[in-house]
Amino acid sequence: MSTTWSVERPESATLCERCTPYLPLLVDISQAGKDFQAHREWWKKTYGRVQPAVITGLSPSECELCQILHRCFSRFPGFDPTTTEIKVFNSKPSSHRGLDHHTCIFQACGYELILAPVNPSVTAQGTETVHSFAARPVFASFNPLLAKIWLAKCDAQHAACKPDHSSKDFDFPFRVIDVQEGRLVDAPPDVRYIALSYVWGGVEQVMLKRSNKQFLEQPGSITPDSRTEAKGEYADVEEEMESEGRIVPRIIREAIRLCQLIDERYLWVDSLCIIQDDEIQTESGAWTNEEKLAQIPKMDVIYGASALTVIAACGSDSNAGLPGVHPSDTRVTQTMGKIGDQFFVSIQKDPMAAFWRSTWVSRGWTFQEFLLSRRHLIFLPEQVVFHCRTLAWCEDHPLEYIDDGSTDLGSSVPVWTMSAELEPLKVPVRSAWAADVFFPRIFINQFYASWLQNFLQRSLSVPSDHLLAFEGALSASKKLLGRFHYGLPIGYFCETLNWKVGQGRDAWNNKVPYQGLTQRRSGFPSWSWTGWIWDLPSTETFNLSYQVDSAEKWRRVGIWGIRTSTNGDLEPWRITSPDVTPWDRLNIAPSGAFDTDEDWIKEELPTYFDIAKSTTIPSNCLTIKTIIATIHISSQPLNEYSNLNRAYPSSEFIAEESLDGIGFSSEWTEKIEAGLQLQIIVIGNFYWGPNPKQPEYTDEDDPTIVCLVVQPAGGGVFERLDVLRAKTSLMKKLDWKPVVAVLQ
Ligand SMILES: [Zn+2]
Ligand SMILES: [Zn+2]
Repeated sequence: MSTTWSVERPESATLCERCTPYLPLLVDISQAGKDFQAHREWWKKTYGRVQPAVITGLSPSECELCQILHRCFSRFPGFDPTTTEIKVFNSKPSSHRGLDHHTCIFQACGYELILAPVNPSVTAQGTETVHSFAARPVFASFNPLLAKIWLAKCDAQHAACKPDHSSKDFDFPFRVIDVQEGRLVDAPPDVRYIALSYVWGGVEQVMLKRSNKQFLEQPGSITPDSRTEAKGEYADVEEEMESEGRIVPRIIREAIRLCQLIDERYLWVDSLCIIQDDEIQTESGAWTNEEKLAQIPKMDVIYGASALTVIAACGSDSNAGLPGVHPSDTRVTQTMGKIGDQFFVSIQKDPMAAFWRSTWVSRGWTFQEFLLSRRHLIFLPEQVVFHCRTLAWCEDHPLEYIDDGSTDLGSSVPVWTMSAELEPLKVPVRSAWAADVFFPRIFINQFYASWLQNFLQRSLSVPSDHLLAFEGALSASKKLLGRFHYGLPIGYFCETLNWKVGQGRDAWNNKVPYQGLTQRRSGFPSWSWTGWIWDLPSTETFNLSYQVDSAEKWRRVGIWGIRTSTNGDLEPWRITSPDVTPWDRLNIAPSGAFDTDEDWIKEELPTYFDIAKSTTIPSNCLTIKTIIATIHISSQPLNEYSNLNRAYPSSEFIAEESLDGIGFSSEWTEKIEAGLQLQIIVIGNFYWGPNPKQPEYTDEDDPTIVCLVVQPAGGGVFERLDVLRAKTSLMKKLDWKPVVAVLQ
C-alpha cells in the first residue's frame, strides 16, 4: 500500500513570513496508519523544513499565529512582545497506539506551547481508517459526559480494570453516602460506589461519630442545601456540629456533586463512612477505635471494589475542590485561537506533570488509595485525567476515540503514562508471569520493594500511622506473600529483613552526601522499615537487592518472633524451621568454635521459649539463634567516592577486593575516627535469581554470607543498623560465637 502524506493548510490563513513555515507542522500534527515506513519518510521530509529558531518581535495585528503566541505568553510576568525570545523547535510530544504526534513547540517564560487543531482528524483512506491526533478544548466546566464515556469504555473493554468484588461481602459495617438523598446509608448488597481520595486537613470538618450517626442518616443531613428539613428531632446534634464550626468540607461537597453529575448514586469517603471518634492512641501508636482498626486494613477491599476513585490532586487540604465541577472553580485555561478556518488549542505534553508535583502525591495515606483502586479520575489544575490499569485518557487529547479496543495500531500507551512511578503502583496479575517463575520472589523484588520506595518518600502528619497507611497494600499482597509482621512478610522474612538504604545515581552524579536513617520511630522495631523515620533526600532509596536464602539451606539460623495473640497473650511464632539439621551446608565454622558447641546447635532452643514467655521482652523483638562476631569499622571510607557516600568497610576485610561498605550518616564520624566496634549476626546466604530451587547464581565455591550489622541497645538487646555481606572465605577470619540474639 502506498500512502500519500499530504499537508493540508487551512483556507485563507493570514500569517507573517516568519510564521509561514511552521503551519504545515501545526496542521499535520500526526498521521499514521499501517504504513509506518511511509509515515517515517514523510516525517523526515517535514522535519527537514523547520530548523530550531528563535522568534522575537511578534506581529499580532498581521499574523494569526503571532496573535496566538502573544495571547499565550502575555499572561506571564516579564513577557514583552517585542523583545522576549521565543524558541521554536520540532518535537514529538506524544505517541499513542502507533500514532506519533509531531509538531513544533514554542518555548518562552518557562512555558512550552504546543498547538493542535481541534477537528477530529479521522480520515478514511481507501478502505483503511487513518487516525490522527487532534486536540480537544478544555472548558471551565468539566463535561461529566466525558467521565461517563471513559468509565463505560473501560467497563466494556478492559478486563483488568473491573472492580474486585471478590471480597465484597464486607465483614465490617460498610456505609456509603447516598448522594440522591444526601445522607449516610448502610451499603446495599452489591453496591456500586465511587471512592474519594483527598488530602485531609485545613478545615474543621464533620466526621462520623457515634453521637451524630443517626443525624447523618437523615435525608439532606450531608448536603447542607436541603438540611433545613432535617432540623427538629436532631437539632441538638446539628447545633453541636455547628457550634464546633464543623462543616462538610468543600472537597466532599464537590465529590457529591460530581457523583450526581455522572449519575452515580453512592460515594464512599473515609471521614464520613468510618466512625472516627473514641480514638485514643496508645504509647505504641496503635488506635483503640475498634471500627477504624477493623477497617483500615481493609482498604484493599474498599478501594479495590470501587467503580472509580476520584482523586483530588489540587490544593493542599480539604478546602481544595475538584476543578471544573463547581461553577466557581477556575481551571488553568488553554490557549486558543484560529488560523484561517482552523481552530487551534494548546495541549499538554505531560498531563500528569502537575500530579507528580501535587500535595496529594506527597502524602502517605494516598499511596495505597491509588495503588488499590483500579480506576482513577484525577482532578488536576489544567484538566481531568482518567487512569486505569489498562491505559490513560485525558481531556485535551480525544484519545478514547483512537482507543477503540483494536490492537492493530500497536499496544503502546501515551508516553506520559509510562512514568516509572506509575507502573509499580499497579498491583500485578499473576498470569503476567510464566508459570515456572517463582512468583513471590519476583513480587517482593519488583513490587513490594518499589511500593516501599515510593511510600517511604511520603509524609504522614501522624508519624505512627506509618504502618497503618501501608496496611491496605500489605493486605493486597497477602494472597501471595502470606502474613506480615511489622510490614515484613513472615514467609520471606530473611529477604525482606535485608532492606537497606541505598543511593541512586543522582547521589553519585551530584555528590550528595549519604544521610541514611538516623531517627528511630518509637514503638516500632529497628529490624523493620517501620522502626525508622524515613526523612530521606530523594537521592536515597529503599533497597532489597540482597536475596537471602535461609529457610531451606541455611539451617543454622533460626529467627523467632513474638506477637500478641487475639486474646492478649504473647504468642511465639517461628520464621525458620527449628528442626536444625546437621550443619553441613556451609561450613564457615572458623576456629573450631562451632565444633565444640555442637550440643548447643542441637538444642531445641529452650532459651527461645523462655524469652518468649518473659514479659520483659517487648512483642516487637526478634529472637535470632545464629552466630555473632565483632568487626572494627575502618576509619578509611571504602573508596574515593565514599567521602560523599559514607560507606565504611570492616577493617578485618580491608585488604580484600569487592568489599561491602556499611553506610553511616555524618553523626557517626567522631565515633568512627575514635575506633568503632560493631557486631554482625549471620542471617543467611546470598543467591541470585527468582527461583530458589534453580538459582542463577549461588556462588557455591565461596558463598556470600549476609549479616545484619547490630549494636547493643542495653539490656542484652541489639538494634539493627545496616546489612553487610561478604564471602565465606572472608567471614572465616572473624571470631564467631553462637548466640541467641534479641533484636529490638
Ligand atoms: Zn507570525
Ligand atoms: Zn480500563
